[in-house]
Amino acid sequence: METVNVLGVKFSNVSAEMLETVLREAVSGEKNVRIVTPNPEIVMAAHKDAELMELINSSDLVLKDGVGIKIAEKLKHVEGFERQTGIATLEKILSIADELRLKVYFVGAKEATLFKAVDKIKEKYPNLEVVGMHDGYFKENSEEETKIIADINKKKPDILVAAMGFPKQEKFLALTETPKISIGCGGSLDVISGNVKRAPKWMQKAGFEWFYRLIKEPKRIKRQMVIPLFLAKIIFNKKSCFKEG
Ligand code: UDP
Repeated sequence: METVNVLGVKFSNVSAEMLETVLREAVSGEKNVRIVTPNPEIVMAAHKDAELMELINSSDLVLKDGVGIKIAEKLKHVEGFERQTGIATLEKILSIADELRLKVYFVGAKEATLFKAVDKIKEKYPNLEVVGMHDGYFKENSEEETKIIADINKKKPDILVAAMGFPKQEKFLALTETPKISIGCGGSLDVISGNVKRAPKWMQKAGFEWFYRLIKEPKRIKRQMVIPLFLAKIIFNKKSCFKEG
């Protein structure tokens, strides 16, 4: 698959149509896919940490989340497909799961948020089967984590959703037996539960969702401070964003 390399992160260059084909092939048993959805903050973290980079690049689909990745492409005149956000991809996966009556397991968020999100999901996608769920606040390498992984491996979901933020969710996904589809999708359960509102559509389209989130959650400023640095690296490094594969 063609990729767009952004500071070492190899983004899959897929359109919405191509993505749907890959997802359907995965659920039909052709090839399991592990999906990650990095934004510029994650790219910057991986840029400084070889292990995180390997965790991302060893995934089957690396989807562009965050308008910053598209800006990087524009700055370097790379023609890449539109971005496929974590939340939109999760919705696509859930609708396929509903259509094909698949088993889904959810890990992530605070317990109350998780329960609320799963209730909403069951309402919207009544034919999918929720085979298990666990909040995302367990310690890495703990007994609790081992138990959750054992439960997932026992229940053999077709789809595993890990929404615990980067890199906890990616590390976690790498520990489980691979379901047909597994996806790390950050704060998606917060959005689905209704606890966190997404920006209005026009703002999403204009690429200002990050600004909306910043106003709603000012503590994100610390994380978002890295974005100007990301853009500077894209502009001033010669090979910061290019197509390959
Ligand atoms: N979270 C979690 N376990 C943790 C830390 C965070 O389940 O140890 C959840 C948190 O409740 C939120 C999500 O992970 O639902 C992270 O959302 P954030 O917006 O930070 O992720 P992003 O999409 O920006 O990567």
